[in-house]
Amino acid sequence: MANSGSKLVPNVYVPRQTKIVATLGPASTDPAVLERMIAAGMNVVRVNFSHGTAQEHIDRVKTVREIAARLKRDIAVMADLQGPKIRIGVFANGSATLVNGQPFVLEAKCDSGNDERVGLDYPELVNDVKAGDTLLLDDGKIVLKVKKVTPTQILCETEVGGVLKNRKGINKLGGGLSAPALTSKDMEDIRTAVSFEADYIAVSFPKSGADMYMARELTRAAGGHAMMIAKIERCEALENLDDLIRSCDGLMVARGDLAVEIGDAAVPAAQKRLIRAAREANKLTITATQMMESMIESPVPTRAEVSDVANAVLDGTDAVMLSAETAAGKFPVETIVAMARVCVEAEKSATISLDADFLNRKFKRVDQSIAMAALFTAHHLEVKAIAALTQSGSTALWMSRLNSGVPIFALTPEEKTRRRLSMYRDVRTVMMQYETEDREVLLAKSEQALLDAKVVELGDLIVITIGEPIGKSGGTNTMKIVRVGEHIGLLN
Ligand code: PGA
Ligand code: MN
Repeated sequence: MANSGSKLVPNVYVPRQTKIVATLGPASTDPAVLERMIAAGMNVVRVNFSHGTAQEHIDRVKTVREIAARLKRDIAVMADLQGPKIRIGVFANGSATLVNGQPFVLEAKCDSGNDERVGLDYPELVNDVKAGDTLLLDDGKIVLKVKKVTPTQILCETEVGGVLKNRKGINKLGGGLSAPALTSKDMEDIRTAVSFEADYIAVSFPKSGADMYMARELTRAAGGHAMMIAKIERCEALENLDDLIRSCDGLMVARGDLAVEIGDAAVPAAQKRLIRAAREANKLTITATQMMESMIESPVPTRAEVSDVANAVLDGTDAVMLSAETAAGKFPVETIVAMARVCVEAEKSATISLDADFLNRKFKRVDQSIAMAALFTAHHLEVKAIAALTQSGSTALWMSRLNSGVPIFALTPEEKTRRRLSMYRDVRTVMMQYETEDREVLLAKSEQALLDAKVVELGDLIVITIGEPIGKSGGTNTMKIVRVGEHIGLLN
């Protein structure tokens, strides 16, 4: 497979708020390419269980973790389950050509298809459709109008034809397909994801909170601690959005399937609504699909793609995602470089959202109140940075839900927390061992860790949040305004 060859990409670590998720595949299996993807700014890798074997995913994750450890970078792993995507079967020749206005039949049972018919991997589809429905195949590239349904056949007329390849997906315009939430393959894949300690598990096609609870329970039962991402790609998911948001740790705006279910023109507004709702509920968001699509083949993005990425940043997404661009494209490294550049530029004009609303917020938790107090102080005192000494990462999560314009550094000894935090917008991770119960020593260590990471300078004003007694999870109860160097004795 062609890739970006030996052209060097500089290892520049620009301060970027928005995180980049890149899907791994044949184009990003070579360790040398993966290393350059990390150097170019990839924060999270996505292993896509819709393609490839479990062993391929296990091997890629192992390689990524080895390179990340060597480069001292915190890279999260997101396992994306295939979910109950309904697919057509296979064609005798690998593909068929559908002609506008001609009949085409979807059959409950048909082992090898041709230009007139093809099988279904979910024969029950016949129960979910009726005459007059519109079926979209291959992400909407092929459109079929349902004319008649029998117990074993869906007789259609081709409205938009073209070449249809083996095993492409089927969606129904307007939603309403009844396939179960998690397939037996998903359950097996959850165990695989737990075995390689996935930091995130993305659940495909959830319709309600119950589907997310089920995935979470299976993950926990297998011994996994992954955060759960609900992919919003069904009409029903938008209808049950509050329930879904409560049940997940983050949302993916899964624009590929969502566009075919709700109509492509409705997606941009849905994206804004989803990102806003998730942030208000202290949840994460990933904006996905076709962000840099032309870069599968081209070394530069289109103007429209640049706008799309920039708009997702301005909408407030935590992360922007690459799919085929990095999994199967010709320019996986260049795509990440281009995406990072667009994010940084868009962030310059992102609005600061610490406004009057902020003052009306009420909190029940002490740690959350400290997080907000630190944010408020940092913003108004115009400090250089906030340093959150955090075990679980929740302090950093709360701080990052509002755009204060002040960078947040999460200082933690927990590798799992650092990996997970690499998805959060505007949170950067710094490895720091605590090994002390003395606050003065801890403050000195924090100043030193930030100086070593070259993210602050001597004399900079910063805000530090700490939980005392030190080292306890969820115990942030203290905030201190500090001049970098004062506890190390480097300032007089
Ligand atoms: P997929 O999900 O790539 O697994 O289909 C993302 C989307 O539908 O946009
Ligand atoms: Mn999808």
